[in-house]
Parts: sequence; C-alpha cells; structure tokens
Amino acid sequence: MSATVVLVATKGPLKGRVYRFDEHDTFIFGRAADCHARLPEDDRTASRHHFLLEVNPPHVRLRDLGSLNGTYVNELKCGGRETGETPQEAAAARVSQCDLSGGDVIRVGESQFLVDVQVPLACFSCGTVLPPREQPGASEHDITCVSCGTVQVVSHARRCVHCGRICDEESPNENPDTFLCESCRRECAEDPLRVLSEIAPQDLFPRVESVSRERDDPGSDLALPAAEGFRNSVIDGYEVLRRLGGSAHGAVYEARRTSDGRPVAIKVVLCRSTVSAPARAHFLRELDPLRALQHPRCVELFDVGAIGSTGFYFVSDFFPSGSLAILEANHGGRVPLEIAHPLLLAAAEGLAFIHERQIVHGDVKASNIMLTGDGSVRIADCGLVRSFDRAGFSGMVATGENIVAWPFVAREQITDYSHYLPATDVWCLAACFYAILSGHPPRHIEPKRDPIETILREPAIALRKAWPDAPRGLAEVLDRALSDSLRHRFPTATEFRTALLEAETGVQPRG
Ligand SMILES: [Zn+2]
Ligand SMILES: [Zn+2]
Repeated sequence: MSATVVLVATKGPLKGRVYRFDEHDTFIFGRAADCHARLPEDDRTASRHHFLLEVNPPHVRLRDLGSLNGTYVNELKCGGRETGETPQEAAAARVSQCDLSGGDVIRVGESQFLVDVQVPLACFSCGTVLPPREQPGASEHDITCVSCGTVQVVSHARRCVHCGRICDEESPNENPDTFLCESCRRECAEDPLRVLSEIAPQDLFPRVESVSRERDDPGSDLALPAAEGFRNSVIDGYEVLRRLGGSAHGAVYEARRTSDGRPVAIKVVLCRSTVSAPARAHFLRELDPLRALQHPRCVELFDVGAIGSTGFYFVSDFFPSGSLAILEANHGGRVPLEIAHPLLLAAAEGLAFIHERQIVHGDVKASNIMLTGDGSVRIADCGLVRSFDRAGFSGMVATGENIVAWPFVAREQITDYSHYLPATDVWCLAACFYAILSGHPPRHIEPKRDPIETILREPAIALRKAWPDAPRGLAEVLDRALSDSLRHRFPTATEFRTALLEAETGVQPRG
C-alpha cells in the first residue's frame, strides 16, 4: 500500500536527475552545500536555500524559503520577494507554502521539476493490492476486494465524517466511514480521542459506559467536554478522566486502569488515513523493543493498541507532578542550576540507556521529561513518534503548522529528515536544558523570517552569551552538544553524559 513520490528534473543544470521518495523525508533545492538538489555556487537563478519539499507519500508540500526570485508551481508564483524587499520582509508578507499533486511542475529560474505521485490501489480493510481502475476517467465505481470481500468505492471525492464537507481526495485507499478532511484532522489533533470516539463504528467498542467524572467537575477546563455521543471507554480496559495536553504528535490523557484502579497516562495519536488491519498488527509488533525498555530513568510503555482503523494508544505510568515543562513554568522560565543539573544527568542517563539499545528517542522535549516522586526524572515516549512516522501514519511534520517549537529543532531534522540519529536526541536534550538554565531558547528565531531558513543558517547561541554566569565546563559541554556539525557533536547520549559528569559545574553532587 506504500505510495511513492518521484521528482524528475526536466530542465536546467540538473536535467535527467530523478529523486524518489517512498518514506517521509525532506528535500531542499538551492546553492548551499547542504541542499539535496544543488545548483553550482555561481548560478544566481536560485537562492542558497531556495525551496523545501516535505514528502510524506503520497503527500508533498512545497515551501519557498524566502527566495529572491520565488518558486513557481505550474507557473504560479509561490514566495519570492518584491523589489526592495528583504528576505525577512518577504517571509513576513506571504505564507509561501502549497500542497502539490502528481503532474505539478516546479520551476526555479531555468530549473524545472515534474512531480509524479504513484499510489497503488489497495483494500483499506486488509491492505491487499487491488486491480487498477477499470475506467480511468470514471469519477466513481466499486471494486470488491478478492481477499476479504470489502467493497471499495473508488472515488475522487470523499465526504468528511466530521464536518460533512466533500473534498477532493486523490488517495483512494481510504475507508469512507472514517475519512477526515485536512482541516478537521488538524483541528482534531488537539483532542484525537474525542473525534475517534465519534467516528469509530459502534461495533468496535461493545463496552460502552457513560461514566464521566468531569460532568460533576465543571471547574476543570482541561476535562473532556461531556458532549453528546462521547464515550470514554473507547480504549478497552481504561477509564479516561481528562486531557492533559496535546501536540502535533497527539494528545495525552489521564486515565485509570479498570482492572486495578492504577493511574495511567494514555497517549492517543490520530493516523492521517485509514490503516489496514495487517498494517496495524505489524506496527504494534514493531513496538515490542520499546515495550521491553526497562530502566529507572525511562518511562515504561506497558500497553499499546489500535482505536478503530485510524488511531493508536500508548499506555504508561501517570506522573502527578508533570514534566520538566511544569517545573520550568513553576520557576518562571529559569530553573536554578543546583536543581536542573541532577535532572540533566538523569535524563542523559535514560537517553544513554536507549541509545545503547540502538533506539533513538525522536521527540526529546521538556514535556517528555517526567518528574518522579523521588525528585528525579524519567524520559517518556522513547521511540514512539519515530515508529509512528516510519510506519507512514503521521502527517506533515517539518512544515506542519502545529510546530511552534522552532528554536528546539536541530538542523538535520530539516536537512536529513529520514536519517534520525542519536546525536539529534543529544541536540534536543541539550536545547531543552539550555533553555531552562538560561531562560532563552538556544536558537533565536526572528519573528519576521522563515524559521526553517533561520535553522538552516544560524547556529545555536553560545550558552555564556545567554547566561554569562554559566559554569565554563558545563557551557563547553552544552555548546558542543548544540553544534550543528555532527562531527563535532557527541554521537550519542553516552558520550554526552560522560562529558557532563566530567565537567566542572560547582554543583555539589547529592549524597
Ligand atoms: Zn481486503
Ligand atoms: Zn472535515
């Protein structure tokens, strides 16, 4: 069922080159050395970083990176600067991003690329590849899957089950009973459990209970709205109490295990389209190494499962004190060194443990570093976002509107999206502690500039510039961990932790 996106250079210096994508990746065109399609330095038709494609087959999104001459899609201008405008002013004036489809032509100066999107027709229920369309021109017809007997309506239009709007949807491999349009999907990312409970077929969830503690607790605005039709037993075996928070990658809910009352946190993610039963089972099996991770500095993942055909849930312990993000907020944005330093060492220890098991975390951030009852931390969500993304279930990330934490994005997350390294986890952990120690993010993103362009050009600010009193040894280690050069940075959290332990900080170790 895997789709492929192919980019063919049809004109210009790169003519004849073919770029093929069968997994989520990024592609940068320009004159700079870190571009994937690179023009010679003296070719002035393109900017150093001209445009970026985020490819998540079958979806492709183009973003002009504040280029001088703009990027043309089917001869319509996307981005570019007016005469006398700086890149900053241009980025501020226009949202220069658009979604592409098969047959679209991208042009920059003399260079031209043709976009080709290949989506094999597959059964949304069992994943079996179906015979190609009988009448390519026909707007709608039925195909019955030979493997499972499900009738597929092959159509170019889909009705969103949430808002009822009819959308042009190129991908045919979508269950019409669960189809969500792009805007509803974005809107629902904040509270996926609510929408999943609305769209999931009744027979998937025979255990319908109407318990909703929050109905008696109108004071909590975090509580799930007790809207009609909401059933909080969508996840069998758990009673969901309230939503704790959300991000581009899903939301986390506080819940209780019904068998023994154990308080748990359940992360729920919404897939960008229908996932067939075999693909769901395969994905859940692939999580076995993550479920086997047991370490005092890592949050244990003790249950996982699918919600209907478009959602997944991940259950772990509930941490009543919250995360490092809460600690940061409680201290007004700056945590004293003697409190933060032992937490940094503990987080590095947890990260080193997973790196030694050849697992990358993929989403190290303050809200994933949980405060434990004994005054330390545990790292949550180890490897989850990455597994979900590699399975092809996530939406756009690198260009997504949901990303607000641009100063906390490592450069290679833009330039080399598909090869996520342990060193990227190191960068993200260092960025997180840089911010709570100094009160400033490690990279300054100018509000009037494309954040991606800033990440590609500007290095992290040295810690002692943001915080002149930082202990020299600690500053050297954090600055090295925040280097954009992978050769200079610590390759894994093991080396990072060793350097932290050796660095002079003036903090007395707790005894
Ligand atoms: Zn089938
Ligand atoms: Zn909709």
